Amino acid sequence: MKIHDVQEFRSVRAQWGKKLLILGHYYIPDETIALTDRQGDSLALSQIAAADETCEAIIFCGVHFMAETADILANSPEKLAKRDGKRIPVILSSMTSGCPMADMANMAEVTECWNRLGELVNTEDILPVTYVNSSAEIKAFCGRHGGVVCTSGNARRVLEWALKQKSRILFLPDQHLGRNTALEMGIPREQIVMWKKVEGALPENIKNAKIILWEGFCPVHNQMDAQKAAELKTENPNAKLIVHPECVQELVCQSESAGSTAFIIKEIQNAQSGDRFIIGTESHLVERLKNEYPELSIQHLGKPHPCEDMARNTPESLFSALEQLENDTLENLVSVPNEIAKDARIALENMLNLG
Ligand code: SF4
Repeated sequence: MKIHDVQEFRSVRAQWGKKLLILGHYYIPDETIALTDRQGDSLALSQIAAADETCEAIIFCGVHFMAETADILANSPEKLAKRDGKRIPVILSSMTSGCPMADMANMAEVTECWNRLGELVNTEDILPVTYVNSSAEIKAFCGRHGGVVCTSGNARRVLEWALKQKSRILFLPDQHLGRNTALEMGIPREQIVMWKKVEGALPENIKNAKIILWEGFCPVHNQMDAQKAAELKTENPNAKLIVHPECVQELVCQSESAGSTAFIIKEIQNAQSGDRFIIGTESHLVERLKNEYPELSIQHLGKPHPCEDMARNTPESLFSALEQLENDTLENLVSVPNEIAKDARIALENMLNLG
């Protein structure tokens, strides 16, 4: 069967009822998010996937690592036991939607880094922490070493916990979230070093380091710059600058507040009519906030910065995902191999257990 338009989509979707759960990340385009059942940031969506007791299939409108996380949590051994071993297929709406930041840390590079660190310091005393924006393999690496996953909403709590377990952290893959969080915690700059994939890090720096950052970054948030923010603040001195912690440190420390996507949305929801904001995050979300809150003055930090991978989650890609379920073809199935899922789940559960 083929779905040609929104009307046909709605009619096919209605037949699935609660057996189907369609999840949409905040950064996907408006016309697609309007067709999803639940919206949220990456972790919230995975938790929704894990908690749902009625669905038999999930379509994830987001990027690859998010569908992996949903698969790991929705198909845990406990959940499978409750369903007599029946797996919930997780279908990614757009198979070409990856996350460039997640791709900046692959297993070969991380293993090489870990081995090299072992020549410089005792790796038994390093806890690997990965941002949720990472592959299942990297999460599994963390799980195997007693490590943990974090999100932009709980990074500080996770790092504080991690430093109670071990005296150093290897933070993957987003250098900016790692640096911004460590500085917010009061860790001195000289104890925060970056692992240089190419050159290797200086041994004396590593020996004194509490936080060893990976060199990754989000190409979307990395483009937002402190100078532009300063210009906009001069033009609009009453506007509150809010940015995502994936932005560079010079920008984060200029902002009135920095926080996750959910945090930014809450700030806007709690604003009073006439309040002014300059927002440094992905532009589909900023545009949506502008439309939903016309009584506020909301502007992008400079030109709009869309995430191209998220933008590929079009209504047509969602139609195609539903067709795959209808036709039982599942070309976009995201399924994490058991041995990787088992270790990745340890790192995810270490985070979820922190509350
Ligand atoms: S906005 Fe950045 S971190 Fe998020 S999916 Fe796009 S590239 Fe990855």
